[in-house]
Amino acid sequence: MRIAQLEGRTVLLTAEGAVDVPAELSTDLYARWDDLRTWSATATAAAATQARPYDPAALQSPVPAPRQVFAVALNYRPHTAEAGYEDPEQPLVFTKFPTCLTGPRTVIELPPGNVDWELELVAVIGRETRHVPVEKAWDSVAALTVGQDLSERVAQLAGRPAQFSLAKSHPGFGPVGPALVSLDEIEDRDDLELICELNGEVVQHDRTSGMIFPIPRLVSYLSAFCTLLPGDLIFTGTPAGVGNRRTPRRFLTPDDELVSRITGVGEMRHHFRRATTR
Ligand code: ZN
Repeated sequence: MRIAQLEGRTVLLTAEGAVDVPAELSTDLYARWDDLRTWSATATAAAATQARPYDPAALQSPVPAPRQVFAVALNYRPHTAEAGYEDPEQPLVFTKFPTCLTGPRTVIELPPGNVDWELELVAVIGRETRHVPVEKAWDSVAALTVGQDLSERVAQLAGRPAQFSLAKSHPGFGPVGPALVSLDEIEDRDDLELICELNGEVVQHDRTSGMIFPIPRLVSYLSAFCTLLPGDLIFTGTPAGVGNRRTPRRFLTPDDELVSRITGVGEMRHHFRRATTR
């Protein structure tokens, strides 16, 4: 099941097009997640007559207003090494403030500085969760989706110690989508291929099985501190290949096209423009 936001409506994406999710299911999406899956099987079967074509560029963030957005730094060894750090002993957590979220096919403003890409798998929490053990933590995840943890490196790394959250929260710096993909739709939720392309060149390519702290560890760890809520997002960290660690360094420009793909989950496509000064 692939659930998306299209022109302010919650829709099911099928091969034939989009089908509106009934209001009684969309108003409390996560509480009715199992009912939604039952409905989606029927709706998919009837999609040939009921689905309508849609423009992928009209899709919005599949979670319009999460209450919490967690993000994890240094969760793949090759990226930890390229960034010049030792492997962390516990997850390193920061937030992307929710106003940074945008859809899977938008034009994103580049503020002054060095804006970099970070392709990440994003876990979407499905139920209120507190102190969940690792073995049960997948039960708290409703869906997976694709994310970019866009980051302005000058401000991000300026302080001692550095502070991550602000420079990763400019408007548009949290593209997510194209859809919430339910776990039953995914062949191996612990081993997904990530591919990030800049103007057709592969700049990041890894598998989520390489995470230092896999999703169940992250969910369990976070739930020991915070109460996780339905719709909360967890950006799970980026593999090696970010622009800041390339030789020569490379940052996003208005000429670039950034494609973010996770096999079996989906693909996003973004363009950029300079921020207008005010
Ligand atoms: Zn990141």
